[in-house]
Amino acid sequence: PKIALSGQHVAVFAFPFGTHVIPLLRMVQRIAAAAPEVIFSFFSTAQSNESVFSRQIENNLGFKNIRPYNVFDGLPEGYVPSGNHTEPVALFLKAMPENFKSAMEIAVAESGRKISSFLTDAFYWFAAEMAEEMHVKWVPLWTAAPHSLLVHVDTDIIREKISSVGAPKNRSLNFIPGFSAVSVADLPEGVVADIESPFATMIYKMGLMLPHATAVAINSFEEVDPVIVNELKLKFKRFLNVGPFPLTSPPPLISDEHGCLEWLDKYETASVAYISFGSVITPPPHELGALAEALEECKFPFLWSFRGKPEEKLPTGFLERTKTYGKIVPWAPQIQILGHASVGVFVTHCGWNSVLESIIGGVPMICRPFFGDQRLNTRILESVWGIGMGIENQVITKNGAVKALELILSCEEGKKMREEIGKLKGPAMKAVEYNGSSTENFKTLVEIVTNSN
Ligand code: UDP
Repeated sequence: PKIALSGQHVAVFAFPFGTHVIPLLRMVQRIAAAAPEVIFSFFSTAQSNESVFSRQIENNLGFKNIRPYNVFDGLPEGYVPSGNHTEPVALFLKAMPENFKSAMEIAVAESGRKISSFLTDAFYWFAAEMAEEMHVKWVPLWTAAPHSLLVHVDTDIIREKISSVGAPKNRSLNFIPGFSAVSVADLPEGVVADIESPFATMIYKMGLMLPHATAVAINSFEEVDPVIVNELKLKFKRFLNVGPFPLTSPPPLISDEHGCLEWLDKYETASVAYISFGSVITPPPHELGALAEALEECKFPFLWSFRGKPEEKLPTGFLERTKTYGKIVPWAPQIQILGHASVGVFVTHCGWNSVLESIIGGVPMICRPFFGDQRLNTRILESVWGIGMGIENQVITKNGAVKALELILSCEEGKKMREEIGKLKGPAMKAVEYNGSSTENFKTLVEIVTNSN
């Protein structure tokens, strides 16, 4: 990529919840490496910056031209978390955009450079207005799948069609290209239901603003779904698929302190169930119990990344009874685990990062979606890509889990899904090669972000 002019200063706005910050930071690091004279001020909450940047330093990944700045998290003094994961998000949204504005003033004063472009989480539609006022570019990054992006951009069309037919849950969205298998029930909250919440309002405004962005970037690859990708290309000035990030910027294996990979070495190819519900969700106790009972009944080896105390949340005696074929850890090197030959199925909440990592690892999925884009991801990978299946009625029961595990680990269906994943994995690997689509798009992205013309 072209070397940038000196004096450039990119404002990066991160969304400090779920797995949003890491993908944005990975992308910024790649751009920062290609444009060492450009300064990137990285705005997130103190807690998020601390957790992300302390890990970066540990790994010697510290970039001199990426500088973290803390923005106010909106929490009242002495705030005690209630356990409801939406509460801190709502408080943060209230503090926006003033918290970003005041932190940005500090960054401009300290660096002596005006902001020359904005690179933000796509949620931050207000950056479009800031950019316009300053006559600079806005490049948002969508950290989820192209499908969910399309429903947010097409929200007005969906609301118009759906309300006119009274919104039965099983109404197909076949009026959107590539969506004939998707129904109203698969939509993220805030598209046709709960449309007044602050979060829904933010996402709605995002959908209206994105077509004005200089370019929209996404952690995905063009070949994942050409129909949807082309639809988005028609809507945006530029639509730059620059992922999958686990391939373009493979994370170093920080530590495998619980010995997950060595443990996996003991098992046969495609025989182990890996379980994780991401960084936000813990399924309710009865579903955790049901999954544990299913694992005990099937006796498939399992590796479980478990949030909270397993001895309190799982059936009495489960840990003891399954210790010869089960392993439970508080956090796991997921990308490497999904890349390990022994893993045969991934029980997941269907967050986009997890889905991408599973595709790259060639592992079929059993999906228990909870919120946001997770139901839509489940539908697409079950009904369109054929690389996984939703759990019956979207709730884990012992029988439902047994059925799904057996289907994927010991039946033809599992083999078929593995073959179908190969049809996505191959193009993903190609996209990041020299002259691959994501590589070419990345050059364009660097050019746009670091060049003021
Ligand atoms: N992850 C991990 N180890 C774990 C559990 C999760 O490294 O034990 C990572 C996983 O690799 C993925 C991210 O956490 O990159 C989860 O992202 P996703 O979008 O799937 O879900 P979210 O956390 O946003 O709900």
